[in-house]
Amino acid sequence: MSLLTMDQRRLEAILNKAVAEHPLSYQEIAYLLSLDNPVYIGRVMDTARQMRDKYFGDKIFIYGFIYFSTYCRNHCSFCFYRRTNELSPRYRKTLEDVVTIAAGLADSGVHLIDLTMGEDPVIHDTGNFEVLYEMINRVRQATDLPVMVSPGVVPDDVLHVFKDSGVDWYALYQETHNPKLYSKLRLGQSYEERNYRRFTAKKLGMLVEDGILLGAGEDCADRARSILAMRHSGVHQARVMSLVPQPRTPLAGRVMVPRINEYLCIAVMRLAMPERLIPASLDVDGIKGLKMRLAAGANVVTSIIPPSNSLAGVSQSSLDIEQGLRTVPEVKKILAEIGLTAAGADDYKGWIKARKEKTVELGDCRDQVVL
Ligand code: SF4
Repeated sequence: MSLLTMDQRRLEAILNKAVAEHPLSYQEIAYLLSLDNPVYIGRVMDTARQMRDKYFGDKIFIYGFIYFSTYCRNHCSFCFYRRTNELSPRYRKTLEDVVTIAAGLADSGVHLIDLTMGEDPVIHDTGNFEVLYEMINRVRQATDLPVMVSPGVVPDDVLHVFKDSGVDWYALYQETHNPKLYSKLRLGQSYEERNYRRFTAKKLGMLVEDGILLGAGEDCADRARSILAMRHSGVHQARVMSLVPQPRTPLAGRVMVPRINEYLCIAVMRLAMPERLIPASLDVDGIKGLKMRLAAGANVVTSIIPPSNSLAGVSQSSLDIEQGLRTVPEVKKILAEIGLTAAGADDYKGWIKARKEKTVELGDCRDQVVL
């Protein structure tokens, strides 16, 4: 007679299904996300690592992050850089600065350069994206690395230029796939348009990233829907990050959910989308938070920021930056401690090439969530 409890039997059945790569249902994903027994959560994370190893072995990708303009016209309720926050550090890096920083990041061993800005009114309100196009070209020439752009919602014609300029990734986070909650987070911004722009970028042949915020008012059902939405829409990189309440924002007083929720969410995303890229961001807990996110099945380290350049992070504007802890050598030390290694530049380029070919082969019709 089996000594397993009913909960254990249910958990093992779901994990076996995930290992066999039969798509997990909404109910199964929601069940996993609702676990609070540390032993059960440990089982989910063990299985998530198993699935990561199946697709990526011990190789981890590392992304350099350049937040080149912290100006923004929007008022997202969770964001330190919302337009009216007088506390947030505002700067616009010059083109030459960005190219120099990108070249330094490339020399340090990152696999990709992420060019991020708020919806800077100087660019978005004028429709003059020329400076960004030039930045993309110069960074690509200077680094010979894949480029991700995270410029907020941009018109279709701008997406076309991105594609023609050789941009590999367009990152645009929905934060939640619950439209009602979205309206409280991304105040005054269209839920549909955000999804549509990401979908358009994918249709044009770019890889796309989506991301969700944890602890912003969602429940397990919302988290499960968001994971399914990312799976069904075929995003190539899916991210989850815990909300860090920011001073002088509407969510300033919110109590943070325990980090175990983020680890569990990373692990469940790995089980639901085993072949996709799933980041472990340094932007929430800095270098000390890396091991647990990797233990949960993440396979990309994001938000490498070189010191001495007066660059900011997003959720944590300064954590570990000037101490030089958000750098490739520091990440490599952690990887070595847990039996992982940084991938080679060609590994990453090969992955990008293969995913683009696969996306074309599969078509781009998967834009509806079916629960
Ligand atoms: S999340 Fe992005 S779009 Fe929203 S306020 Fe912050 S920088 Fe602006």
